[in-house]
Amino acid sequence: MAASTRLMSRLALVTGGGSGIGRAVCQRLASEGASVVVADISHESAMETVGRLPGDLRGQGHMAAAVDVSSKESVKKLLTSVQTRFFQPPSVCVNAAGITQDDFLLNMEEEHFDKVLLVNLKGSFLVLQAVAQALVACGAPKGSIVTVGSIVGKVGNIGQANYSASKAGVEGLTRTAAKELSRFGIRCNCVLPGFISTPMTDKVPERVISKWWSSDHNEPKWHLLPESM
Ligand code: NAP
Repeated sequence: MAASTRLMSRLALVTGGGSGIGRAVCQRLASEGASVVVADISHESAMETVGRLPGDLRGQGHMAAAVDVSSKESVKKLLTSVQTRFFQPPSVCVNAAGITQDDFLLNMEEEHFDKVLLVNLKGSFLVLQAVAQALVACGAPKGSIVTVGSIVGKVGNIGQANYSASKAGVEGLTRTAAKELSRFGIRCNCVLPGFISTPMTDKVPERVISKWWSSDHNEPKWHLLPESM
């Protein structure tokens, strides 16, 4: 099947779809024929993404939705509104919502640690669980759920104790979900991007970003140092 029709008749849900990587994922999924639910904490930015998408191949259209992935109630409402509009749960789900609140470990506020874990890790859990439950409940649960971890979850990064812990957690969550959900035909994968220039990384001043190439892995390594450091 041609790449442009590969996802025809698929319904995809993308959290964090109002910006950066999530927005690019929405564009790619729509360009391959999927109907996309763009969900973001900002309804306005979700609508902006929808406005830029090509039409889906089945003519079901796309949908913009506001969601706070860290709230179980908000995630539940999102799944209900998706199923009310499309009469099916999403069979593709990409969890791209995420935040950073960087600081040195020695200075990091407990509140900032909790917030990053709440959005990045618990948010991924809540969305993954809600989508998997909806797929299993509909009786034809084939699907693909993608979480967005980070290379920082593997190797750590100065100033990102909270963020790197959350992303290591996302990877463990996804590995477990893959083992539990494979029997339902639901694939779970975690992608670990390196540095990608988006509004998230734009918040970090140029002067504190340094990149270099690892001699042994031939992969980019990078450090983001908070401005206060
Ligand atoms: P981004 O441009 O900031 O996009 C993230 C989106 O998620 C934003 O629209 C953000 O809204 C939204 N969001 C924040 N909290 C939310 C919540 N509670 N509920 C729903 N949506 C929420 O960042 P990005 O760089 O594209 O990052 C996307 C994902 O990739 C994140 O999980 C990030 O950790 C991961 N990642 C990024 C990089 C990179 O280098 N860019 C590398 C590795 C992994 P606000 O803008 O209002 O916060």
